[in-house]
Amino acid sequence: MKIVITVLAIALILVAVALLISIRRIKILEKGFKRADETDKMTGLLNRDGFMEQGQLALKSAQNSGELMALIVFDVEELGRINTFFGTDAGDEVVKAFAFAAKAAAGKNGIAGRVNTDDFALLTFCSGEAEAQEIADKFRTAVMGCLNSDTLRESVNFFAGVCDFDGHDDIYTMYNKASLCLFTKDSNKRVNYFTRDMENSMVEKELLRSEMMTALETGQFELYYQPKISFKTGEIRGLEALIRWHHPTKGFVPPSDFIPLAEKSGIITKIDEWGLFTACRQSKAWQDKGMRPVKISVNMSQAQFYRTDVYATISAALAETKLDPKWLEVEVTETMAMQDIDRTINVLGKIRDLGVSVSMDDFGSGYSSLSSLKTLPLDILKIDRSLVCDLDENKVSKKITNAIVELGKAMELVVLAEGVETRGQIDFLTEIGCDLAQGYFYSKPCPAKDIEALLVMPLIGQPIVK
Ligand code: C2E
Ligand code: CA
Ligand code: CA
Repeated sequence: MKIVITVLAIALILVAVALLISIRRIKILEKGFKRADETDKMTGLLNRDGFMEQGQLALKSAQNSGELMALIVFDVEELGRINTFFGTDAGDEVVKAFAFAAKAAAGKNGIAGRVNTDDFALLTFCSGEAEAQEIADKFRTAVMGCLNSDTLRESVNFFAGVCDFDGHDDIYTMYNKASLCLFTKDSNKRVNYFTRDMENSMVEKELLRSEMMTALETGQFELYYQPKISFKTGEIRGLEALIRWHHPTKGFVPPSDFIPLAEKSGIITKIDEWGLFTACRQSKAWQDKGMRPVKISVNMSQAQFYRTDVYATISAALAETKLDPKWLEVEVTETMAMQDIDRTINVLGKIRDLGVSVSMDDFGSGYSSLSSLKTLPLDILKIDRSLVCDLDENKVSKKITNAIVELGKAMELVVLAEGVETRGQIDFLTEIGCDLAQGYFYSKPCPAKDIEALLVMPLIGQPIVK
């Protein structure tokens, strides 16, 4: 009996040991898979997930040891441009050079990762600004040492955002703070350090962002309308809808303060949709009251423009408000349109197929060539305010404006000058054959009720609202 029990016990122990071994094997295998998941294929560095996971562990031990650490994000400038101009092999060479430099800077005790296509992060011991600067200098030398051609060495640049470990932050917060430094960077400084001021402005922006949603739901936004005047007849030929935010405690918040934020957080598509429906509804209401119909234009953000259902949204707004499409115009900026020209041609074509007009906003402010404009399906060209405001003094601006008007005419477009403020500008623009003016000389953007009075009377080239 004793022997049987002993044999059984030994067998049980053997089974348990075998089980333990196989569990351990599974764990090792799992770890192997995880490693592969956490590695960037091209460079062999940790990827974003891997960096965050290992970084968090390192912060925990720094918390216990009290060692000074910093997270540095190195952002490769214009990697896309390098790919375009020198080819993807050159782009890959640059990425590998940065990976090498990051690995070297991390040494044995630091952690390096490729956290985005063109961002490398480093968590390392660092005693403050002077040491961070030193690390960045060495980083630069290492990158340059890896590149094979002078052209690439001259084209490659980077900025570094740095956030010190304060003993509390987790790795994600530190990464966000270091990235924020790059976002608000001073381009004269390679190394930008995270400061309290930045944090305050970040908190404020975050608050504003969350308030925008409430603003939409509680009717704090309003559309103002700015007239577009015919140089020839002085009549109102159109209105641009421009959003205004009446904030319950801050008062008036200008679009320049919240539109860029809304663009980053994605709320912009909701805001633009609201603007589109509101403008169409308003225009139809004026027409139903018997006022002279004019074209109403709405601004479209990049996010809205690049949505797949953009024309479906426009056609839904027209159907719901029963506005005839010929009274609606969509403004797309030059920079936006030139990002992906094939897509732009396609989307603008579809919008025009609905019977809606399309204008190119801020023309002359970006870098698109006059020839690329020829390929776009457009109705109206809006000359950017920066050119118009120089007309009184700057001969070059006059020449450029003249060329734009000529090109617009050759393409049979209506040409509008934005930001017209002086009689001198009006005289010049009339002389070169520009069709429409929009600007403070005639009227600032006004609330809907003030526009009503203007829509019943023709104008005779005089300032209409001062
Ligand atoms: P934008 O589309 O270029 O609009 C023209 C801006 O120039 C408006 O500023 C207008 O008030 C201003 N302006 C017009 N005439 C003059 C002038 O004679 N002198 C000067 N100094 N300024 C003039 P606003 O209303 O502050 O809007 C700024 C920008 O915000 C707009 O530039 C547009 O890009 C954006 N925005 C406004 N409303 C919306 C909207 O509903 N959706 C989107 N996505 N963007 C909008
Ligand atoms: Ca506009
Ligand atoms: Ca504009």
